[in-house]
Amino acid sequence: GDILSLGPNAGRILARWGLHDRLWAVCGHHPGLNLHNHLGELVRFQKSEQPMFGAYSYNGHRAEIHGILFEHALELGVNIRMGEEVAEYWEDDARGASGVTLMGGEELEADVVVAADGVRSFARKFVLNYQDRPKPSGYAVYRAWFDAAEQGVDKDPLTRHMVTDGDVFYGWIGQDVHMLTSSNLGGKTISWVITHKDDTGLLDTSSLPGKMEDVLKIVQGWDPRCAAILSKAPECVDWKLTVHDPLPTWISKSGRIILIGDAAHPFLPTSAQGASQAIEDGVTLAVLLQLAGKQNVPVALQAWEKIRYQRVRDSQVMGESTRDKWHQAKPEDKGEKLDMPRPAWLFAFDAEAHAYEVYDDIREEIEREGYSLPTLA
Ligand SMILES: Cc1cc2nc3c(=O)[nH]c(=O)nc-3n(C[C@H](O)[C@H](O)[C@H](O)COP(=O)(O)OP(=O)(O)OC[C@H]3O[C@@H](n4cnc5c(N)ncnc54)[C@H](O)[C@@H]3O)c2cc1C
Repeated sequence: GDILSLGPNAGRILARWGLHDRLWAVCGHHPGLNLHNHLGELVRFQKSEQPMFGAYSYNGHRAEIHGILFEHALELGVNIRMGEEVAEYWEDDARGASGVTLMGGEELEADVVVAADGVRSFARKFVLNYQDRPKPSGYAVYRAWFDAAEQGVDKDPLTRHMVTDGDVFYGWIGQDVHMLTSSNLGGKTISWVITHKDDTGLLDTSSLPGKMEDVLKIVQGWDPRCAAILSKAPECVDWKLTVHDPLPTWISKSGRIILIGDAAHPFLPTSAQGASQAIEDGVTLAVLLQLAGKQNVPVALQAWEKIRYQRVRDSQVMGESTRDKWHQAKPEDKGEKLDMPRPAWLFAFDAEAHAYEVYDDIREEIEREGYSLPTLA
């Protein structure tokens, strides 16, 4: 992967863990999005708000952000075993236990198993007996991240500003296409992503190398700055965007195995909320398990599903609506209506505080009325 954007809803949690300085040092700090129509006319400058709703966003390279989280987990004494593959999940209601069996045959038992095995989750089928049937969304993205100096970004008058002006963020929108590019670390690295129509019918199980001639075809007749920066990438990835129906539940039959993150609710990369929602999932779950205690794991998981189900869906839908707005914009459209949304319900949210606030009421409701599968508004 390449760029990872964490919204202030995740940023406030990471800052609370004391990670702000480390994240800030590896993240981009552009002043805002310069949005253009496909002919290169500036149609909107949307100022970057840092902090927003009292918290920072962090946009950086995925591996570096992962590295910081990984180090933090080790500092807390979390035992992380890399290179192990889960072959089976199991739960034993009578003993109040659950666990996994690794590929090598080793069994690990726990009070609760959290299956965070991503968009291609095998826990979905194994734990929930749910057959995911992803559908092509009709869109795909080409993405790249590269070193600016190595690729001569400073030598080309059409791209030089991306390294001489510090971190910058540019976008272009046209019929069924949008392209975003930013420079990071004071103009040292460049990332770009271009979302476009795709009728190959392929699914996101395939992340293919992209062909530069195909990428450049999309921006034929566009502002020449687009082809100039796209063509600097030494290579790019072609990622098909796939739609997944919401799962009916994220909890196993006995309530001791739970799916979180993309395993439970895959996000389109364009929503820029997949990782933030996965972090909210984890934080909420941690609070509920702490409040419920070891004896009440199933109730904690049920409360978690009730808290998360609608919120996750709302943030998934928001990502799709921004794409549609940009793809349907006319060249003469200008101004605030083209802004990326920054709704308070999404960004001002404090998942940790919310979980502490609502747990007792939800637990009482479950005890009173029994648990029923979540529904969407
Ligand atoms: C191209 C692309 C760009 C994106 N850009 C953004 C962005 O800018 N901002 C954003 O917020 N989100 C973005 N996303 C979405 C974001 O990456 C995901 O929402 C997020 O990574 C989900 O986290 P996760 O922990 O649930 O799953 P993942 O990050 O997918 O992690 C799942 C992990 O489980 C492991 N695993 C799988 N099966 C097993 C098994 N059987 N045993 C052991 N381990 C297993 C995998 O190896 C992997 O390490 C993007 C996604 C893509 C594909």
